[in-house]
Amino acid sequence: MHSGEILILIPILLLSNLSLSAPTASPPISSTISPDIYLPTDLEALQFGRRDALFCDSWRLSVETNNAGEWWTIPSTCIDYVAEYMGVSGQYGSDCAVVALDAAAAARALRVVGDGLDAWVFDIDETLLSNLPYYAAHGFGSEAFDDKSFDEWAELAECPAIPASLRLYQEVQRLGFELVLLTGRYESQRNATTRNLLGAGYHGWDRLILRGPSDIRKTAMVYKSEKRMQLEEQGYRIHGSCGDQWSDLLGHPMATRSFKMPNPMYYIA
Ligand SMILES: [Mg+2]
Repeated sequence: MHSGEILILIPILLLSNLSLSAPTASPPISSTISPDIYLPTDLEALQFGRRDALFCDSWRLSVETNNAGEWWTIPSTCIDYVAEYMGVSGQYGSDCAVVALDAAAAARALRVVGDGLDAWVFDIDETLLSNLPYYAAHGFGSEAFDDKSFDEWAELAECPAIPASLRLYQEVQRLGFELVLLTGRYESQRNATTRNLLGAGYHGWDRLILRGPSDIRKTAMVYKSEKRMQLEEQGYRIHGSCGDQWSDLLGHPMATRSFKMPNPMYYIA
């Protein structure tokens, strides 16, 4: 056989092999889907009024991803849903625990220089401390926010710790990070906030930063970005940041890793 004939035969053999090994016909994909799996449904066609739980779950996803943007109160149809999410279902606690596990894994993977400038930033409300007792008494976010009654509640210094956050705080501390608590609360609330944090089990933070007189009219994102900038100017390396609001985390500069805690009860710009 000449070399030219070999070159002609190779593609013929390849083609014949392909035809031999090819399946005779693929079953339609729809026939391979388990009857237990449901394909996406047109939600509008479901008429939300009759499917509140489904809608409220989707609404919660939209606020957690920040797709919803600015919002003021939870939908009236979702009061029971949010109450259940925050409480008896255990879902809120589970969601917080997974955030804390993710953050702890990230913290363990980071190299701490040990010069006192490796920082981890925590927000306070709905991040380290829970105001759930207050919100449970005020419609779980369905009522318009009232500064006066909330400040009275904060002054009691009775917010419990979020258990997963307390474990994360202690783990990050053990790893050698400097703990910076950056809150939208005011300087006038420093004593009550300190008392509450200590009572809930938080100890040994490096900095507790509250809004001073010049910060009062700033949005949370501007205020917190400015404070992170000042920390960096002081030499801190902000490795991680935890907060229940996107305004705790976004802006400039940002932490190397940001961790969004769940909060379906209120939104802070
Ligand atoms: Mg907060």
